[in-house]
Amino acid sequence: MELIDIGVNLAHDSFDADRDKVMQRATAAGVVQMVVTGSSEESTRNAIELSRAHPGVLFATAGVHPHHAADLTNNTLPALQALARDAQVVAVGECGLDYFRDFSPRDLQRRAFAWQLELATATGKPVFLHQRDAHEDFIAILREHGIKRGVAHCFTAGEKERDEYLALGLHIGITGWINDERRGLHLREVVKGIPPDRLLLESDAPYLMPRDIKPAPKTRRNEPAFLPYVARAIAAARGETAEAVAAASTATTRVFFGLPVR
Ligand SMILES: [Zn+2]
Repeated sequence: MELIDIGVNLAHDSFDADRDKVMQRATAAGVVQMVVTGSSEESTRNAIELSRAHPGVLFATAGVHPHHAADLTNNTLPALQALARDAQVVAVGECGLDYFRDFSPRDLQRRAFAWQLELATATGKPVFLHQRDAHEDFIAILREHGIKRGVAHCFTAGEKERDEYLALGLHIGITGWINDERRGLHLREVVKGIPPDRLLLESDAPYLMPRDIKPAPKTRRNEPAFLPYVARAIAAARGETAEAVAAASTATTRVFFGLPVR
C-alpha cells in the first residue's frame, strides 16, 4: 500500500526529539510523501525548511490558521505572500474559519481567509482549508473568490456540507476521525459519496490518533505511520480494499498538488 499524507504538522515541537524516526516509520508503513502543514508564519518557515531537507518526500503549505488570524495584518501579509511563492510550497493554507474555538475575532478570521484566497489565486496554488462551525460564511467567501481548487481538510461535517463542497469543485480530506466509534460513525456514511478523484487522506498528526490501533500505542501522539488505519477505515465504509483506496487517493493527491511520482 502506497499512501500520501496530505496534512501532517511535522514541524510541531512534539516531534522535535525523534522527527527522523517518525519519518522512517512513515516510510516503512508505506507513506511515501507528506505535505507538512504551515499554520502560522513561523510554522510555515519551519515546514519549508523541513521539506527542503527532504526533497521529493516532504512538501509544505504556507498559511495562517484561523486561530492565528489576528496575527495576519497589513504588516505581516507580505512575508506570507513571499513564503507562498517558495518552490517547496504546494498549497496556500491552512486557512479558513473556526467559530467553534473563536481564538481570533470573527471579522479578523474572515479578512485573513479572504487574503489567503487571493494569495492562492495569485500564485496559482490550491488552498488547504479549515472550517469548523462556520459553514455558511465559509462557503460564501469561497464562492465570492471563485475558489475551485481546494481541499476541505479534516472534514467532519455531514452530507449537505460534503455535497456543497463537491459542487464547488473541492477535494475532501479524511482523517482518523472516521476511526472514532464515538464521534466518527456518520463519516462512514459521508465518505461513501466522495468520488475517488476528490478523496484525500491525512493524519493531522500529532493530533487525531486513530482509536482502533491494536495494540493501542502508549502515547497519544499521532504520527503519519498510522495513516494505513485511516485508509482501512475508509475502505471498510466504502466496501473497497484498502489497496484500492490507497492507489486512488495517491493518484488524486499527486494531480491535486502537482507532486512527482516517487
Ligand atoms: Zn485544521
